[in-house]
Amino acid sequence: MKKNHFLLLATLFICSAASSQDYYLHCGKILNTLSGKELTNQTIIVSKNKITKVQEGFIAKVKPEDIEINLKNKYVLPGLIDLHVHIEGEHDTKSYMSKYIDNEADVAFQAVRCAEITLLAGFTTVRDLGGTGVNISIRNAINKGIVKGPRIFTAGKSIATTGGHADPTNGSNRKLVGDPGPHEGVINSPEEGVKAVRERYKEGADVIKITATGGVLSVAKSGKNPQFSLEEIKAITTTAKDYNMLTAAHAHGDEGMQRAILGGIKTIEHGTFMSEETMELMKKYDAYLVPTLTAGKEVEKNAEITGFYPDIVVPKAREVGPQLKATFAKAYKKGVQIAFGTDAGVFAHGTNAKEFGYMVEAGMPALAAIQSATITNAMLLGLENEAGQIKENFLADIIAVDENPLNAIKTLEKVVFVMKDGKVYKNEQPLTAQ
Ligand SMILES: [Zn+2]
Repeated sequence: MKKNHFLLLATLFICSAASSQDYYLHCGKILNTLSGKELTNQTIIVSKNKITKVQEGFIAKVKPEDIEINLKNKYVLPGLIDLHVHIEGEHDTKSYMSKYIDNEADVAFQAVRCAEITLLAGFTTVRDLGGTGVNISIRNAINKGIVKGPRIFTAGKSIATTGGHADPTNGSNRKLVGDPGPHEGVINSPEEGVKAVRERYKEGADVIKITATGGVLSVAKSGKNPQFSLEEIKAITTTAKDYNMLTAAHAHGDEGMQRAILGGIKTIEHGTFMSEETMELMKKYDAYLVPTLTAGKEVEKNAEITGFYPDIVVPKAREVGPQLKATFAKAYKKGVQIAFGTDAGVFAHGTNAKEFGYMVEAGMPALAAIQSATITNAMLLGLENEAGQIKENFLADIIAVDENPLNAIKTLEKVVFVMKDGKVYKNEQPLTAQ
């Protein structure tokens, strides 16, 4: 009896200690990402990892251990979501060699740095679209609280065809690299496509990425040619559906893009040479364009630095950059659905929010750009009832900036407060405890 009584007391104590500390965020302005309306002078109450209340006025904390955070002269938004990053590293002049030099642990240390920078820039959720498999390990490490980073939905390895964009042995000495197959993410038939998806599932990937056409940075002549047959794509998307995995296709050229859409891919990455006919197809098939304008700007700039890219890459980089923005502007005008994604890793992680400025420059209203990074992306990841809005019972993913982003979009490049899952990672305001 006595022992039981002690256990009960101990349990009660532990429970109350674990749930004791709530946050009271005093917010001057909150953007309702769904309606586009601004709310003034509100308190967001956060308990554990959830928003438990959004209340008018500045509500004082209840318990001594609760924490009030003063965001009275800030503009508060839900955490941002980037649907296209490569969290394992950043592209530079050494990147073409590093796959022969770096071990997994080297990649992992880089990934830790990239993940933390991304989170501190206000991106509380990202989709990683291809790496070595370390992207799966870092997602797990973040979920366990071992390292700091955004919530990650990862593709693990990209799926390519032989010699295609993301064939990991492209441009390499064949004696050293062998002939990769579905296990390494390279397929050459619908059957191998099925196997490759199941391999990704087995490794712990959340989403599937294919490289439907040539790419800019791969050591290959064409950045546009179609690299999958329609049957191969259909086999991949059908299998991905069995495992409830969202599908993405890297695509620059129009023919490969059309096959990806007809094959059931949900998000088209880059979409560089998308024809008007394909834009109509995007709408018909309920597909989304992920513009990656920042990556376009960056490769265009780097192409002018002698020796930055191999010679075979330079003309592709020069052509793709300006075209990306022109196509995005046209696609948005034509009513193609847009999902926010940057391709961070092709450029510096933590500068993802530059994309907003480029989207607005190309003609998308600031609110629509913000909605693409919150409402739309949350929905595509199946988080529509958990993320992308400041709302009761949603995850406490909250950021703040100095200015109203609807009038000054570049303020999103300087996030001053970051909370993810109810934990504060960045706060330029003094904390008031007790
Ligand atoms: Zn990419």
